[in-house]
Amino acid sequence: MTGRFAPSPTGELHLGNLRTAVVAWLSARADQRSFLVRMEDLDIVQAKPEHAAAQLRDLAAIGIDWDGDVVLQSERFHLYQEALERLGADGSVYECYCSRRDIRLQIEAASSAPHGPPGSYPGTCRDLTDAEREERRAAGRPPALRLRTMGETYEFVDRLVGRSAGPVDDVVLRRNDGVPAYNLAVVVDDGLQSVTDVVRGDDLLASTPRHLMLQRRLGIDTPSYLHIPLVNGSDGERLAKSHGATTLRELRDAGTTAADVVTWIARSLDLATATETPSLDQLVGRFDPAALPRRAVEAPDFIRRR
Ligand code: GLU
Repeated sequence: MTGRFAPSPTGELHLGNLRTAVVAWLSARADQRSFLVRMEDLDIVQAKPEHAAAQLRDLAAIGIDWDGDVVLQSERFHLYQEALERLGADGSVYECYCSRRDIRLQIEAASSAPHGPPGSYPGTCRDLTDAEREERRAAGRPPALRLRTMGETYEFVDRLVGRSAGPVDDVVLRRNDGVPAYNLAVVVDDGLQSVTDVVRGDDLLASTPRHLMLQRRLGIDTPSYLHIPLVNGSDGERLAKSHGATTLRELRDAGTTAADVVTWIARSLDLATATETPSLDQLVGRFDPAALPRRAVEAPDFIRRR
């Protein structure tokens, strides 16, 4: 049994990410499971080794430990390529020449919404003729690769959210810059790393049907999922830099310690009373996924810059 935390090292972790990491860690350690950290550094433009190092330092600072080496997705492109080839062996993978803008315009112009989650691909390049494909190739824009689906619905029981279901669309497997897509890499790695328990932010809830579909097609066991509500600013918007000091470094500069952050996270998860200042280790015995709050939480006052 294995849990994991899989951040994208495109910046420093903020309070919401740290809170998700704590739930992932507690979920694993409460059942004496191993806990892995994987850096989802596929985006070679935005992901940086210095961000990865800062993220690991911050995880350690709040008391999170992990087993074995941190896996870097940037070193595993060959594994995603292999999976792509397996998915394409029956002709299900096709070239897509659409830009994001093209897709938005196509969705706006369509009389009915395409199958799949919001923003789903309307299938424009699914059935191009050879001549049409030649024409698009000649125009110079390199294609992304997508997987042909039937817009079918996948259902699962989230450990916090409960029963959840959603349709899939023709998901991108490789971006048009040659980089493997997150949706493919996450499924391949959770499979290869034998992850049995996925804990992550609920912004990814709508993507989970895609992951179930890819697992089915690749013959990978589906792990259990727990999607944790995000932390919002006082305006109800998802926590962002504009809300104040949201990273451990910024907070420390403003006089808030890592222990203060752990205390806030513990209280926000209903794992500590208003007067306790527990360490993460002390929370392990209290963790019960069924008792976690299901609401989005508001960031603490200490993030406001004085
Ligand atoms: N790398 C993703 C993120 O930082 C999380 C992926 C996952 O946990 O499945 O949002």
